[in-house]
Amino acid sequence: MTAEEAAPSGSAAPPDTVRLMVLEGDGIGPEIVAATLRVLAAVGERFGIDLAFEHHLIGLAALAAHGSTFPGHIIGAVANFDGIVLGPVDHQRYPTPELGGLNPSGQLRKQLDLYANIRPARTLPGLPPPCGRSFDLLIVRENTEGFYADRSMFVGSGEFMPTPDVALSLRKITRDGSTRIARSAFELAGRRARRKVTAVHKANVLRVTDGLFLECVREVAEEYPEVEYEEQLVDAMTALLVRDPSRFDVIVTTNMFGDILSDLASELSGSLGLAASLNSGREFAIAQAQHGSAPDIAGEGVANPASLIGSAGMLLAWIGERREDQRLIDAGAAISRAIADVLRLPQHRTRDLGGDVGTAAFADLVADALRSDASKGEDVA
Ligand code: NAD
Repeated sequence: MTAEEAAPSGSAAPPDTVRLMVLEGDGIGPEIVAATLRVLAAVGERFGIDLAFEHHLIGLAALAAHGSTFPGHIIGAVANFDGIVLGPVDHQRYPTPELGGLNPSGQLRKQLDLYANIRPARTLPGLPPPCGRSFDLLIVRENTEGFYADRSMFVGSGEFMPTPDVALSLRKITRDGSTRIARSAFELAGRRARRKVTAVHKANVLRVTDGLFLECVREVAEEYPEVEYEEQLVDAMTALLVRDPSRFDVIVTTNMFGDILSDLASELSGSLGLAASLNSGREFAIAQAQHGSAPDIAGEGVANPASLIGSAGMLLAWIGERREDQRLIDAGAAISRAIADVLRLPQHRTRDLGGDVGTAAFADLVADALRSDASKGEDVA
C-alpha cells in the first residue's frame, strides 16, 4: 500500500497492531525491502501479529517526485508508527542539500535521536567463515555525533572549507553521548553469556575527544562489575579482529570507527549481505542493514536480503520489549533462527555466499522455514 492509499497514518489500526513505515531507498533497497516484507508477513501469520505497512518515498525516487531525497513530511509522520524498515540509500550520488540531497539515514538518526546502532556479527552453523573461526559479537556504535558532518551540528555542517585548498571536518564527542552509548553496551553485555565489553578508541592521538569518550566508558564500567572490561586502539583492533574475532563479545565505539569495524566483522562472518542492524533511541527504532545500496548489483535480483530481514527481526524484538509482548520477542528470535536454518545448506545461499539463489527466492525459503519451525511447535507464545 502506498502512503496515499493508506488510512490516515496509523490512526485506524487496532491497539496491538505493529505499524511500520517502509522506506525502500536506492539501489538494491527495493529488492531487499520487498524480500523483508514477505518474511514479515510469514512471521506475522505464525505468531498472530497484526502488521500494517505504509510506504513512503525517499532517495532518488523521492528527489524525482518531491524535489528532495528526504521529504519533510516523513519526520512528521513518524509518530504514527512503531518503527521503520529502512532500505539502504545511495547518498554518495545525491546532490548537495541545497539541491534536495539529504541523507535519509543521517536525518532519521539525528532527528529521532537514535543514538545506539546495534550491529551483530556472528558466524552461522554450516557456513564456513572466511576467517576460519566461529564468533558471535555485537558492535555498539554511537550514531549521532563523531565525524559525521550531517548530524554533529545544531545548525550547519561539520565539514567546511575556509579556502578552496583547505577542507576541515569536526569530530564531536560529548559526555552525554559517550555515557549513554556505554550504558547501552554494558546493558547488552550483561544479558550475554560472555559479559565482556571492549572499548575501541584512538586516544593516543585524539587525546581530548577519545580521552573524553574513554573517561565516560570507564565510569559506566564501574557500575557493571559483573562485566569484564578492556580497551583497544582502533588500528590494532582491525588486526585483532581479523586474527581472532572470537576473543571479543560486545564492542563499544564512536561513530566512524563502529561503521568501519562492523563492515569488517560482518564480512569475516561470511558476507556484508548478512549484516543486520538496529538504530535505536529511547522512543523509537529503525531496522536498517549495515551495508549500502550496492549499485554494482542493483536490479539483478541477486542481493542477499538476510541483512535487512535480520534487522526487521531485531526491530520486532525491540518493539516487543518495549510493549512487554512476548510474541514479538519470539518472532524476532524466530526470524534469526530461520535465516540460520536456511543458510545451513549450500544450495540455499545467495551469490555473495557462493550460491545462486535470488533475493526473492531466499526470502521464500526463510518464510517457509518460519512456517515449518511453527509446525515443530517450538517457541510459540
Ligand atoms: P555497499 O555497502 O553498498 O557495497 C559494498 C559491497 O558489498 C559491494 O560489492 C556490494 O555489492 C556488496 N553488498 C552490499 N550489500 C549486499 C547484499 N545485501 N548482498 C550482496 N552483496 C552486498 O558500499 P558502496 O558500494 O561503497 O556504497 C554504495 C552507496 O551506499 C554509496 O552511496 C554509499 O554512500 C551508500 N551507503 C549507504 C549506507 C546506508 O544506507 N546505511 C551505508 C553504507 C553506504
